[in-house]
Amino acid sequence: MTAKFEYSPALESRSIVDIKSSYGLFINGEFVDGSGSSFKSISPATEEVLAEVAEATSADVDKAVAAARTAYTKTWSKMPGRERAKYLYRIARIIAERSREFAVLESLDNGKPIRESRDVDIPLVSQWFFYYAGWADKLEFALPGNRQSGSDPQALGVAGQIIPWNFPLMMLAWKIAPALAAGNTVVLKPAVTTPLTALLFAEVCQQAELPPGVVNIVTGAGATGQAIVDHADIDKIAFTGSTAVGKAIARSVAGTHKKVTLELGGKAANIVFDDAPLDQAVEGIVNGIFFNQGHVCCAGSRLLIQESIYDDVLERLKRRMATLRLGDPLDKNTDIGAINSAAQLARIQELTAVGDAEGAERWSAPCEIPQNGFWFAPTIFTGVTQAHRIAREEIFGPVLSVLTFRTPAEAIEKANNTPYGLSAGVWTEKGSRILSMASQLRAGVVWANTFNKFDPASPFGGYKESGYGREGGRHGLEGYLKGAQR
Ligand code: NAD
Repeated sequence: MTAKFEYSPALESRSIVDIKSSYGLFINGEFVDGSGSSFKSISPATEEVLAEVAEATSADVDKAVAAARTAYTKTWSKMPGRERAKYLYRIARIIAERSREFAVLESLDNGKPIRESRDVDIPLVSQWFFYYAGWADKLEFALPGNRQSGSDPQALGVAGQIIPWNFPLMMLAWKIAPALAAGNTVVLKPAVTTPLTALLFAEVCQQAELPPGVVNIVTGAGATGQAIVDHADIDKIAFTGSTAVGKAIARSVAGTHKKVTLELGGKAANIVFDDAPLDQAVEGIVNGIFFNQGHVCCAGSRLLIQESIYDDVLERLKRRMATLRLGDPLDKNTDIGAINSAAQLARIQELTAVGDAEGAERWSAPCEIPQNGFWFAPTIFTGVTQAHRIAREEIFGPVLSVLTFRTPAEAIEKANNTPYGLSAGVWTEKGSRILSMASQLRAGVVWANTFNKFDPASPFGGYKESGYGREGGRHGLEGYLKGAQR
């Protein structure tokens, strides 16, 4: 018998972050009291209250928009691009320097494993600011055909930005970096369950001596978001979140002068062909759906396996899943952290119960569930058909629906049979098949022999009900410049 070695906990210390007991709003370069009530931000792993945070009212949003407008008119839009770039570089460097602090705070507030916040989220945040810093003085090259017209593209003005809880600081960076590089000022609202890294970012703006009013952070729930969307002096709404709220926002701004980009939900197919390197594919399947507890808009939540390798892939997948460690997000051994909120856990439980009721077969990795906090074991459903709700609706949790196919044409048909179109994955040794699949998949991003890879130079965004507009790359600037299509 071989001895089984137990893991020793390898806890990241939380002493590096100084969480204040309460936070106000960040308006015009200062933290100010809100005029309304407050809410608590808790650690989803322990349910411990981390801080009390101000809930911004419409009057507070009004002040934030006024500060952003003044900063836009008086300073930011007057500043040459090369000067704006210096601030963005400074922010990028400060985030890199304070990355450990940000990673710990993100894991505490969101529940994601420190390994991910430390190695993925925060490095990408810093890279995003570095990348867009480089664009700030090259905007004449940002829009196709603009070079010929001889004029520099102009910023839109004040951008209202609303983000979700799954990658709190990363979504902030995807929004703020291109907006500022293009010369806009912003009012950003983080999600109600994860406001803390956005508030720490506000401190970074102060440290970088960013002119007051260029970045304003207002915390709160849907009503605060709605106040931003409805504000008459906002020129652009950039939203990342659920398709339902995205549709409501599109309706609210229809007929106004506001530009909109929407980054919404997804139900991506991860397609494994019989010639794929199977161990690598299994790693990609696991990364595709269990990264960040499956709280990922582009998660590979529908696995399509070619029929001839179905048993083999499933066996390897279960073996791999049985090694995943669920637990304390601050433990460096942890693969699966906490579900972000009680409400999200309830949604996952509800949809997986529907999976059972509709006749799919559930298998969960054997792992101990901690007593406090919100947790869900990595789970797969087999015997899933396209009619099942778990194959159609976004679960936004560590739950994979497994389907099969025989031919590439059938894989394409099943993969595209969704109202969403954010991402897809293809696993095969054949380059020609990758190209042919990629050209037929109706998805904004298609990964080949990898999954969930992000790069600031690469545009990201959806088709169909996954939204419109792109974030990242040159395309990410188009949403913040006059003369662009969006
Ligand atoms: P959500 O739509 O409930 O909330 C998103 C944000 O909108 C939050 O800040 C929320 O407070 C705010 N909000 C809620 N109601 C509002 C309203 N009526 N007006 C204005 N703002 C309002 O989504 P969520 O649960 O926080 O996030 C999960 C969703 O986000 C998933 O559907 C996921 O796929 C999607 N998402 C998409 C991307 C992408 O790039 N496409 C990235 C991450 C997450």
